[in-house]
Amino acid sequence: MLVAGNWKMNTDVPEGRALADAIAEGLSSTAADRGDVDFLVCPPYVHLPAVREALADVPVAVGAQDMHAQDEGAYTGDVSAPMLSSIGCDAVILGHSERRTYYDETDAEVNAKAQQARAHDLVPIVCVGETLEQRKAGEADTVVRSQVDGALSDVSIDGADELIVAYEPIWAIGTGESAAAEQAQAMHAVIRDDLRERYGGDAADEVPLLYGGSMKPHNAYGLLSQPDIDGGLIGSASLEAESFLGIAEKAAEVLETSGH
Ligand code: PEP
Repeated sequence: MLVAGNWKMNTDVPEGRALADAIAEGLSSTAADRGDVDFLVCPPYVHLPAVREALADVPVAVGAQDMHAQDEGAYTGDVSAPMLSSIGCDAVILGHSERRTYYDETDAEVNAKAQQARAHDLVPIVCVGETLEQRKAGEADTVVRSQVDGALSDVSIDGADELIVAYEPIWAIGTGESAAAEQAQAMHAVIRDDLRERYGGDAADEVPLLYGGSMKPHNAYGLLSQPDIDGGLIGSASLEAESFLGIAEKAAEVLETSGH
């Protein structure tokens, strides 16, 4: 079970450092209870070294929120995979709906970035999800399948720890309106099927599939207890250590009660 935070463009560096310190402190005081829950935080680029340092003594991985598909070059304002690897970054969010919406990112670009991430030992967290209009039109499965296929074409993995997929229905992001647990599970099953066709059963069954979209401590248990939901990609609730760790508590409860 993976509890991952996407801080987006929030907090300045001292605030981000304080949030990471609070997560580290909260974790070390109750670590024994948390069993097999894995943690990841994805702060803004400029926070990465400070956050990594703050989390050095606790088992929390650190990821970026995006990256460029090239190693280096004249791409003012961009950050590359080798740069992220060089500071010990573990993972990178790719194809978040905010990047697709505000920067017109296409599946082909997400795919190029995913290949580049693998080439530099970064775990791509590939985000997919439909709009409300697409859901109402009955197109959600097709849209999500085509995003998964587009993003992962020619992306090979040697093991399930080399890829994460996050299902984030756009209508649930930052709206306070989460998908119903069964609705999310149904889409995770579709994604799992797609991954089985691509990578074979064993790997696909182990690739973590995260749900994202207004996950909070109060709804986390229901979502995380679904068989194909292996964790959460959490936006606003990851900006406070208490709610982030509150979701982790729910993940630990699910593990204890269902072994999922
Ligand atoms: C996100 O954008 O990745 C997200 C899930 O945000 P929130 O939890 O705020 O809906």
